[in-house]
Amino acid sequence: SKKDRVAVIGSGNWGSVAAKLVAENALIYPHYYDEVRMWVYEEILPSGQKLTDVINATHENVKYLPNIKLGLNVVADPDLHNAVKDATMLIFVTPHQFVDGICKRLQGKVRQDAKAISLIKGMEVKKEGPCMISTLITEVLGIECSVLMGANIANEIAQEKFSEATVGYRDEKKVADKWVQVFSKSYFQITPVKDVEGVELCGTLKNVVAIAAGLVDGLQMGNNTKAAIMRIGLREMRVFSKLIFPSVRDSTFFESCGVADVITTCLGGRNRKVAEAFAKHEGKRSFDELEAELLQGQKLQGVSTAAELFEVLKARKWEDQFPLFTTVHRIATGELPPSAVVEYSEHAPSMV
Ligand code: NAD
Ligand code: 13P
Repeated sequence: SKKDRVAVIGSGNWGSVAAKLVAENALIYPHYYDEVRMWVYEEILPSGQKLTDVINATHENVKYLPNIKLGLNVVADPDLHNAVKDATMLIFVTPHQFVDGICKRLQGKVRQDAKAISLIKGMEVKKEGPCMISTLITEVLGIECSVLMGANIANEIAQEKFSEATVGYRDEKKVADKWVQVFSKSYFQITPVKDVEGVELCGTLKNVVAIAAGLVDGLQMGNNTKAAIMRIGLREMRVFSKLIFPSVRDSTFFESCGVADVITTCLGGRNRKVAEAFAKHEGKRSFDELEAELLQGQKLQGVSTAAELFEVLKARKWEDQFPLFTTVHRIATGELPPSAVVEYSEHAPSMV
């Protein structure tokens, strides 16, 4: 039977780990071509070398995932069209702000029988309202798109520490099973769930909750406060998701993509880290400046997601129903001080 060819679009911290996982499995299962192409947004390192050349020579992404071997069958490719050529399985894993431009460049260039999956935590806001990244990929490229989300701090999975993830799929369980197979390891256990919007919204919205948790850390408010923020955040995630997509299931919030991702990101993520620094500097240094300094080229998703979310809340006059989401955005813009993260009076969202 026909073999599958897997390509990874993106090569940041999580993108590199995704390539490592699927490249190991591509060697194990006979129905995949061994080679996994990974599209790299080319950059010149301080040494003067190109990042792609260094990855292909050392089999390490020295900038975004140092000290981890990616596998000899991962080939870094700076040419987007060449990276996806002939691929039947496309894995999208870039910061969400770049995906629209990447998809436009890929229009007409991908196989029409290819399947896609998005590991991207974020959304776009269009005139009509929020547009999930998986929907954007389907609309621009005309191919089906599943999602993989979960409590997945990339560096920990790179070190092969046990964790779980959730694959959200739209229609075909068969397609979900293929994605589960190509990502699964004994230390990386994946559950398929027929709720693509619920899974994707969990991954997207939890980044805003993580900003709130980081602020609480920076203000040294302690564990009870942080747990309260996680609970309020999770509740706003569920209410918002179900208002936007009534098909979203409650059970999805108990999967890895829901409560577990809220917990891990609020404890150890990059959004948390930068928000902690923002609160420590009393909001006097911007998120952009702190992101560049603390993350060295890696990207935050929570601040832009809070702004995108706020656009939706404002358009629908839902601000009062989502005090945590709204407050995080107002703190990030400097309209409110970091201490406001616990100073709102809590209105119960009207839909439970
Ligand atoms: P990252 O933040 O580590 O890296 C940033 C990437 O963006 C780099 O590969 C860089 O080359 C690229 N880039 C910079 N400018 C660009 C441009 N103009 N066009 C295209 N690419 C550009 O990336 P990541 O951690 O792989 O994150 C990708 C997605 O995965 C995000 O949505 C993130 O939320 C999600 N995610 C990350 C983790 C994690 O632990 N890192 C875990 C789960 C999900
Ligand atoms: P950060 O982007 O905040 O590091 O979160 C990573 C993540 O999504 C863990 O599942």
